[in-house]
Amino acid sequence: MNWKIPLFKPGLDDGDIQAAMEPLREEWLTMGERTRRFEEAFAERLGAKHAFAVSSGTAALHLALAAAGVGPGGEVLLPSLTFVACANTVVQLGARPVFVDVADQDDWTLGPAALEAAAGPKAKAVIAVHYAGFPARMEEINRIADERGLAVIEDCAHALFTRHGERNCGTWGTFGCFSFFSNKNMTTGEGGMIAAADDASAERVRLLRSHGMTTLTLDRHKGHAKSYDVLAPGYNYRIDEIRAALGLSQLRKLDGFLEKRRMVYQWFLEELADVDKLSIPFRGADSNGAGIHIFPVRLKTPEKRAAFMEGMQERGIQTSIHYPAIHRFQAYREMAKDAKCPITEAICASEVTLPFHPYLTRDEVGTIGAAARELLARG
Ligand SMILES: *Cc1c(COP(=O)(O)O)cnc(C)c1O
Repeated sequence: MNWKIPLFKPGLDDGDIQAAMEPLREEWLTMGERTRRFEEAFAERLGAKHAFAVSSGTAALHLALAAAGVGPGGEVLLPSLTFVACANTVVQLGARPVFVDVADQDDWTLGPAALEAAAGPKAKAVIAVHYAGFPARMEEINRIADERGLAVIEDCAHALFTRHGERNCGTWGTFGCFSFFSNKNMTTGEGGMIAAADDASAERVRLLRSHGMTTLTLDRHKGHAKSYDVLAPGYNYRIDEIRAALGLSQLRKLDGFLEKRRMVYQWFLEELADVDKLSIPFRGADSNGAGIHIFPVRLKTPEKRAAFMEGMQERGIQTSIHYPAIHRFQAYREMAKDAKCPITEAICASEVTLPFHPYLTRDEVGTIGAAARELLARG
């Protein structure tokens, strides 16, 4: 399908391409200085004490859960309105996902009241997702987690870098997990980052990312270490130097991308203001400091969603759904049969994601708005 207006554009330039080729020319492909510099630059921009580059956002979530001590018999509280990796990684560790409804019709992040009601004695951690790039209610989530001794994991795959109060999303919880998948606000193809708030958590992540080994290839290469011990059965979730180089290059341009995304966001609000058959979430949120990732809307006539998306496709406009509710997937239905997520279910039945990326023009936003108006005016 050759879309006239695609859902997203990675937007790589010659600088990115040059940067990615350098490690290939130098033949130092993994665990080198670029990875270290990428982690340092990212941690500094985020305002985090520790950041570790990993092979994907999913790897970041898996590491965060493992480092938080999630395992068999434990429960993890998370929204059903998120990407399935959040729940898959919980199940892979032998724990049970407990799905929590979102706050309300406008705020599609974890609902603190629903969280409080769902948190039982087996709960070990909570995953807060900053949906679309808008911050979850971290003050309340942290308070509830503190009272119950839960680790707080922020899924920041959409929220790079979203300001919330005095801090960025990803530094409120115990861990902040980021994705650099090709459709995210910044990309390395596949890749991710995990921020850790304290030294002990960071040490767990450092170990588990690389087989649980006490010393790393780079240390041994530098002659700092000769052998190693293994302290825990860890994973190989490392990134490579090619991706780290691309990440460093992308990171330098990110603030410009984010500024442009906020502008496109305002264009959409302006364009869709008179389309009364659509509703736009997060109208109560402050978008000024948000690293906005997608533009979700809800149709007031959910039964017309398939026809609406079909009509958009006929006009060359790509749309998507973020997300089908996890607790309704075949793999989750049985284990989540007690889930109480009525707001999530209503959202999931009526949501459509419109194209959103920093290269959209005002005219293209106008084209999308006109198509939406026309399609929704039909009987
Ligand atoms: C993309 C995404 C992930 C997973 O990241 P990958 O890098 O694709 O593994 C997790 N959670 C959310 C909300 C995402 O959007």
